[in-house]
Amino acid sequence: CPLGPALLFVKTSQGKEEGRRFYACSACRDRKDCNFFQWEDEKVSETRLAAREEYNRNHQPSFTHGQNVERYKNFVLLPLSKRRFCQECQQLLLPAEWEKHSDHQFLCDISTAQLKSPSQLLYPLENKKTNAQYLFADRSCQFLLDLIIDLGFRRVLSVGTPRLHEMIQSKASQEEDFRVRSLLLDIDFRYSQFYTEDEFCHYNMFNHYFFGGEAARETCRKFLYQDNGEGVIMVTDPPFGGLVEALASSFKKLMAMWKETEKEGQNNQEMPMFWVFPYFFESRILEFFPSFSMMDYQVDYDNHALYKHGKTGRRQSPVRIFTNLTPSMIVLPVEEGYRFCAICQRYVSSGNQHCEICDSCTSKDGRRWKHCVLCKKCVKPSWFHCNNCNCCALQNHACEKTDAGCFVCGKAGHKRSTCPSLSHT
Ligand code: SAH
Ligand code: ZN
Ligand code: ZN
Ligand code: ZN
Ligand code: ZN
Repeated sequence: CPLGPALLFVKTSQGKEEGRRFYACSACRDRKDCNFFQWEDEKVSETRLAAREEYNRNHQPSFTHGQNVERYKNFVLLPLSKRRFCQECQQLLLPAEWEKHSDHQFLCDISTAQLKSPSQLLYPLENKKTNAQYLFADRSCQFLLDLIIDLGFRRVLSVGTPRLHEMIQSKASQEEDFRVRSLLLDIDFRYSQFYTEDEFCHYNMFNHYFFGGEAARETCRKFLYQDNGEGVIMVTDPPFGGLVEALASSFKKLMAMWKETEKEGQNNQEMPMFWVFPYFFESRILEFFPSFSMMDYQVDYDNHALYKHGKTGRRQSPVRIFTNLTPSMIVLPVEEGYRFCAICQRYVSSGNQHCEICDSCTSKDGRRWKHCVLCKKCVKPSWFHCNNCNCCALQNHACEKTDAGCFVCGKAGHKRSTCPSLSHT
């Protein structure tokens, strides 16, 4: 499909072991956004293949990345009064194109500062489920960057983190002694208007597809290979509706790409990584990356009503950092209430109490959790032990009545919020 190789899915109906397998778009969960569909065992006729290829060609962006780089060069030569950005087409306009966009809304006097923060200029894509863009609040972005610098990293592979990339790029161009570099991999092609081929690769993180072909892949490889692969960290913040197994498979390929560097005597290492994702995916992420652990730091967003740091008191964000670095190295800001637990050897939320029985700081959401002797683990403060279900749940839950499979583990009998695999430590 236009977004690269499709993924193989299986349709299962409850109770049946085997389902029929089919290919569908890797990135769009909504058929309205990409309607590619093919049974695995289906024969595809030549005409249908040709039609598909034609369709894919027609669904490519109107300018190539190279053309966009040229356009940018011309754009910055223009006086301020001639720098326009079409809000409808989400495109920088050259004077010769004004006519074509005359009945579109546009912004004037696009400054150099605006060009350096494209994530503010572009509309966040919010319409599509999987392509939803939630931009880091400045505080969280700054925290991530400071952490990266303090840990001694010099190169950041920014996978779906345009705002972090932008912060790095902008500091690199302004501060002489700023040594960190970043390469952005993202599916949002609008960014190709602002970054060269060495700064941005059009990439699909659900199928590890480089739209720019071998040249783009080589750019990524070169970036990882600099200094024998030392000093690199990958930071990713995928859409939360994304399939964890697809993401994990792509990230493993990026890690493998890094590993191919000839590093003497450290061949058992993994590429350091920060995966920003909601805490209720902890068990899923650990399934694919057993070396990872979840940090208590709550990542805040600018344009997400729920995950936002409010003016009065703070709303709890469910988004965390998962990393393969040693947890004790991840220093969380004490001024925001995080403290170091000497027993767990990691920083935890102020409300996260060390449970003597579990021998760990067990809270996942920042609130103080309570230990249930029957469940033999700590549970959310709002839960009570239900003798019917034989586990803790919300007081007004429907006992074993949910027939739809659980969002997290896929099993029937409970919903995501009461999934037993959530609070595994
Ligand atoms: N918090 C981040 C943005 C995260 S939003 C920041 O502020 O920098 C998710 C990002 O992933 C968006 O930039 C979006 O364009 C990108 N994205 C969504 N689907 C993708 C895919 N299939 N492949 C690569 N990037 C994708
Ligand atoms: Zn326009
Ligand atoms: Zn406990
Ligand atoms: Zn219980
Ligand atoms: Zn019950």
